[in-house]
Amino acid sequence: MSKPLQIARLDANQADFGSHLDALLAWESVSDKSVNERVEEIIQAVRQRGDAAVVEYTARFDGLSVDSMDDLILDRARLELALERITADQRQALEVAAERVRSYHEKQRQDSWRYTEPSGTVLGQQITPLDRAGLYVPGGKASYPSSVLMNAVPAKVAGVPEVVMMVPTPRGEINELVLAAACLAGVDRVFTVGGAQAVAALAYGTESVPRVDKIVGPGNIYVATAKRAVFGQVGIDMIAGPSEILVVCDGQTDPDWIAMDLFSQAEHDEDAQSILLSPDAAFLDAVEASLNRLLGELERSDIVRTSLETRGALIKVDSLEQACEVSNRIAPEHLELSVADPEALLPLIRHAGAIFMGRFTPEALGDYCAGPNHVLPTSGTARFSSPLGVYDFQKRSSVIFCSPDGASDLARTASVLARGESLTAHARSAEYRIKN
Ligand code: NAD
Repeated sequence: MSKPLQIARLDANQADFGSHLDALLAWESVSDKSVNERVEEIIQAVRQRGDAAVVEYTARFDGLSVDSMDDLILDRARLELALERITADQRQALEVAAERVRSYHEKQRQDSWRYTEPSGTVLGQQITPLDRAGLYVPGGKASYPSSVLMNAVPAKVAGVPEVVMMVPTPRGEINELVLAAACLAGVDRVFTVGGAQAVAALAYGTESVPRVDKIVGPGNIYVATAKRAVFGQVGIDMIAGPSEILVVCDGQTDPDWIAMDLFSQAEHDEDAQSILLSPDAAFLDAVEASLNRLLGELERSDIVRTSLETRGALIKVDSLEQACEVSNRIAPEHLELSVADPEALLPLIRHAGAIFMGRFTPEALGDYCAGPNHVLPTSGTARFSSPLGVYDFQKRSSVIFCSPDGASDLARTASVLARGESLTAHARSAEYRIKN
């Protein structure tokens, strides 16, 4: 038997709980000067030399021997081939997931609206999709077909005419599942390019890569640093921190289930965070025993152990209501309410990326195929931000259509305010429309 897991045990009523919690949650995005400098150099090279720089960096960082950008382009026919190459089970699972993600996101589509005032003036809001979106799919160490669906489907539901995808293929290893997912999600073009050079090419455009309006999708430190650097030139979705799960349990769920839910987050990476809150101390003991018993069965047990020992915790609370208060303070990316009556707790939850209700809704179902997006705010940013969705690919334009009477009325107000700001041209422009 391997050595016992050293996971933090806390009590929400202990005097120093606040400082323990702060220490547990503290996470600074690694901002390494050398990474910043390298990323800046890559961005400038891509801006200045376009395709040639993209080809050079791809050869260097992904170990590919490519001569030209043509070697890094996959067209729709290649994506369709991937769909044929995967197994029937895989294809069916991807199709089910894509369809469920699509149905859910169709509910998010916003419509234009307008109303008419008594003067005949019309006011409204016009919704338009982005012209072109860029999707980054990480491919350095692992591949994520589910991320392709979660990023591309909402873009297509929003009506984005062109979705361009970047995915690195280290040493030329192409992941057919990723391409098949891109095919089902309606991705229009794929470039097998990764890292900062992919982000720079999407932001500024090259001879082959079209410039996009927004870049979405997660990636490693080079990708995240590049997204931060090009923000303003293009829109970005977010800079994601490590993934997190917070489980609130009344002590009546099978401890093995809860242990596995905590593992499912911890296996992402060493910095991932898994926390359990329960009013039942004996249940916390039981989950700790399950964690110890089941850990050795996991393929990524080393990563899971590091994650749980450095950032995990089992926390005793007085009540489920107190658990919700602690949860609001954490503002978790994923929140499981593994209790008999989750509806009773839901109104108490103010900050969470996604809320998984009841004992039969593990986060894993949401990660792949329940329907809602798995790109969620991390590191407490659920206090002010929301899951990726159709909204992120739509824009709102205000619409103002004054009638002659409406203009005359409004101009009197505008004129006073404009003269108060000493903006004479504004005032006179309005006054021309006043009826005498
Ligand atoms: P990646 O595609 O993000 O990065 C690979 C690229 O990094 C390479 O193509 C290369 O261009 C660049 N690179 C590597 N070493 C470099 C160097 N020394 N100098 C310059 N560029 C270099 O793939 P990855 O590395 O596997 O990272 C994926 C990341 O995405 C992980 O951190 C993972 O946790 C995260 N992720 C997050 C989510 C989420 O939803 N939050 C989902 C999936 C993955």
